[in-house]
Amino acid sequence: MTESRKAFGRDSRCAINHPTCPLSSGHAKVHGFLSERQYGTINMTMLTQHTISTPYMVGPVHCYTGSLAGELVLFDTGPPTREAQRYLAEHVDLASLKHIVITHCHVDHYGQAHWLEQNCPAALYFPYRDCLKIAGHDRRIEAMAHLLADLGFDDVYLAKLRQIFDSGVLFPPFPKKFLVAENDLPERLGIEVLSCPGHSQSDLVYVGDDWAVTGDTLLRGVFQSPLLDVDLEKGGRFKNYAAYCATVVKLAGLQGKTVLPSHRQTVKSIKGVLLFYISKFLQRAVQLSPYREEKNVMLLIDKVLKGRVLDTFQLYLKASEIVFMQDFLQQPELLRQALLEIGLFDDVTELFHSAVLG
Ligand SMILES: [Zn+2]
Repeated sequence: MTESRKAFGRDSRCAINHPTCPLSSGHAKVHGFLSERQYGTINMTMLTQHTISTPYMVGPVHCYTGSLAGELVLFDTGPPTREAQRYLAEHVDLASLKHIVITHCHVDHYGQAHWLEQNCPAALYFPYRDCLKIAGHDRRIEAMAHLLADLGFDDVYLAKLRQIFDSGVLFPPFPKKFLVAENDLPERLGIEVLSCPGHSQSDLVYVGDDWAVTGDTLLRGVFQSPLLDVDLEKGGRFKNYAAYCATVVKLAGLQGKTVLPSHRQTVKSIKGVLLFYISKFLQRAVQLSPYREEKNVMLLIDKVLKGRVLDTFQLYLKASEIVFMQDFLQQPELLRQALLEIGLFDDVTELFHSAVLG
């Protein structure tokens, strides 16, 4: 089991390498060594990194604790496993915990929310869009099946995906009581909430004076799939691509903060991480480009994978990616403008044009 703690302040550095996210298709292999280094100066906000192993492809997940305005805050909870409960019970002062803040409602991030609700007095905060997901869970799963059917997925596939959704593996029990992070986090904590959808429709980044807890929005060497989902506010499909184009500008604006991601190493260069993601995505868009007239995503997956077989959930991830790229091919200007704004377009001009021009 990989569990460790590490303290972060303005000048902290982390040398951790971890395997990749179940909801991503990255390629990390290295398990790094965690050195226990403390950084501290007076008046500097400190967050401690907790690394908890997960049973998923994701590998370990990082949660963070810190005392903000004298109140103990936990960012993300780890997966719904005994080990994670043990870890939290041993390393977090649950009796004093005041606030539990979730970056996004994926299993490795909120998996202990229900258990924590029963075992500590803290208030729980979920992103607004996740509150909608929790309230409308069954409706969302139904609507998702319609979305996938429209993209060419057959009933056999949909029944298998439904089994995964219903198994509780992806959706461990939700807590009974929770607040909306965007509205209800007390101002005295000094946490700015940035909405950064793309990977999911709900990703939030929590920003302090010299740090940012970034969830799955900035992961080194990982292409975190932009997950196909139902737009819980407007209905229809959530437009991950358009959302990402706005998000990329906000993420670039975090330069100068200590970035505290949910997986893998601390991010030293935000632009480096963004460029990795955008290049990966453009490379895949280049592969898709010859088939831009084909709308049936199931058929497209066959073409792109050239006979490689994926399991049920991987197929869903692949479909998500393809829809993201189709949206890009429809509206490449959105991404171009965003990249021009943050000074990254020059780095990917060639790839961009090969994808768009086909
Ligand atoms: Zn994750």
